[in-house]
Amino acid sequence: MNTNPQPPKQALLQVTSVAKAFGGNKVLQDVNFDIAPGEVVGLLGPNGSGKSTLLNTTTGFEAVDQGHIAYNGQRIDKLAPHRIVQAGIARTFQLPSMPTKMSVIEVAMAAATRAHGFWGTLLGSPAARQAEAAAREKATELLHQLLLSHVRDLPASALSGGQKKLLGIVCALMAEPQLLMLDEPTAGVHPNLRRDIVSALQKLNTQGMTLVIVEHDMHFIREVCTRCVVLDRGHIVASCAPSELASNERVLQAYLGGSATAHTPKAELETA
Ligand code: ADP
Ligand code: MG
Repeated sequence: MNTNPQPPKQALLQVTSVAKAFGGNKVLQDVNFDIAPGEVVGLLGPNGSGKSTLLNTTTGFEAVDQGHIAYNGQRIDKLAPHRIVQAGIARTFQLPSMPTKMSVIEVAMAAATRAHGFWGTLLGSPAARQAEAAAREKATELLHQLLLSHVRDLPASALSGGQKKLLGIVCALMAEPQLLMLDEPTAGVHPNLRRDIVSALQKLNTQGMTLVIVEHDMHFIREVCTRCVVLDRGHIVASCAPSELASNERVLQAYLGGSATAHTPKAELETA
């Protein structure tokens, strides 16, 4: 079955025949898809369908059992997470945990990739001081954009669940990625802040950033995504426009007929 009717011409990310199991639990099976530069792809599927695992394998947090993943034409599936960040892919986590002893701005600054290493920082070399100043400036700007300026000096662990999500986005953006992968960025975020997340992501995309977003909120998907890829029990079952989701039999089957918890009822797919 052709689950990807309009494959992007020039792939930025190429996932080929990827499989991943945890013990006997086959979480990803023969997963194939491409992401073209500039796309905003919604990664959908019921709870437990493998969305976070797909993000984890793409960003080096889990090894693939089979298949390969290429970014800009180079294999990345054997690289450590920090090497993948350096290659240009950053991600956020579904449930971000934050350190108790670092302030919000310190956490953001620590995510800067242009750090000057242990000795440079320890010896306070001019280059390290310059890098720190640049990281502080960038962190300040991003905290402002993601509406966290007023909590910048609080311990990061004191933030609400929604604010931790926003700080996760700030940290990912500190790496200045070409491809940003977000795992449920609006779950637990106050509705007032959702608007700002949508605007921030749309602005980043306008500036050229490619986005892959795991999301359940259909309004968000309709507003932000150019294409949706749907997972069901570890298989990709659809690649279609957001407006085609409600009429796609395989998508409806995934949400309504599968053994996984139905998360998005048909009515929600239709009214979005
Ligand atoms: P989703 O993000 O779509 O809700 P996940 O990728 O988190 O789904 O999980 C898919 C399946 O893989 C679930 O059955 C989950 O329990 C299992 N799983 C995910 N990560 C691990 C892990 N590190 N160890 C064991 N099982 C895992
Ligand atoms: Mg998940």
